[in-house]
Amino acid sequence: MTETLDLHLRRMPRVALLDLATPIQRLRRIEAALGEQLNGIGLFVKRDDVMGLGGGGNKLRKLEFLLGDAIAQGADTIITVGGRQSNHARLTAAAAARYGLRCELVLGRVVARDDEDYTENGNIILDDLFGATIHDVAGNVSTLAVAEERAEVLRASGRKVYVAPTGGSSSVGCLGYAACASEIAAQSAAQDIHFQHIIVPNGSGGMHAGLSAGFAGLGAGAAKVKSFAVLARVEDARRGTLEKINATLALLESPGVSPDEVNISGAQLGEGYGIPTEAMKKAVRLMARQEGLLLDPVYSGKAFAGLLDDIANGALTPGQNVLFIMSGGIPALFAYRKEFRPGE
Ligand SMILES: *Cc1c(COP(=O)(O)O)cnc(C)c1O
Repeated sequence: MTETLDLHLRRMPRVALLDLATPIQRLRRIEAALGEQLNGIGLFVKRDDVMGLGGGGNKLRKLEFLLGDAIAQGADTIITVGGRQSNHARLTAAAAARYGLRCELVLGRVVARDDEDYTENGNIILDDLFGATIHDVAGNVSTLAVAEERAEVLRASGRKVYVAPTGGSSSVGCLGYAACASEIAAQSAAQDIHFQHIIVPNGSGGMHAGLSAGFAGLGAGAAKVKSFAVLARVEDARRGTLEKINATLALLESPGVSPDEVNISGAQLGEGYGIPTEAMKKAVRLMARQEGLLLDPVYSGKAFAGLLDDIANGALTPGQNVLFIMSGGIPALFAYRKEFRPGE
């Protein structure tokens, strides 16, 4: 089965943005801190925050296929969209720099924060450092519509433009996490650890969709993946993620999955995208203080809070192994300085 998935993936245009498989590590100090609550559960993280380009993060896996596709189509420019503190925008800018493409970013003010940390620090500084052109648009404007208009203007002047959607989560982008499922299967076999659950945040749904498509393609089951919605309301996240799983499986020439194989919780969304929750702050602190590792305030902090909550509520079967994917987003911590001030 692994061979079939890998064979299909190998036919897709791809550039190299990751140098190595990202490590899988055990969270021994958090396990100890959870004490009785842990119930014999094995807590592991896959370090997708550790990558050698542009500060790293989950979007690089998608960008391997997105840039591959763009370059195969002869593009000289990539345009993508996101919020002001988009990690995807930052990593698109870095990957474009690495491959000599021009990059334009349409960034919407979708999160109601206008303090200087949020509007000028974190990812946005890095976007500019990587040489991207930034289009700053209001929160109620469709960034994708602005991106398409800009693409037309550039095409009229002779440029070849590739437009990537929010979070890079086209079916081509999702292939990055289908490939990650294969990477996890190989590491799991080599380390002789079986992971019953894979836990991720759900923003644009591409990480969940790609992993579910990959595990379905491997015959290991799409339902192994559980995500915590941090952007859309949970019903919308379920519908969007199912569509993406099946679009990705179609690219891989594999049969689709049914809605009951899409496991998403809405319990950590709080007041909405980019709005901190107390549980997120506690989870970020716990990971930093017990393990010396960094979660981010928008995605992985909320998802890890969800996993801690599942453990506390006995939602996981004793003795099972859980793999939490650390997805990066570290620059956003600086945009949320207020929340992490000493004593907060
Ligand atoms: C984008 C992002 C996610 C969510 O991935 P999706 O594929 O959009 O669901 C999770 N963590 C971080 C740090 C991200 O930047």
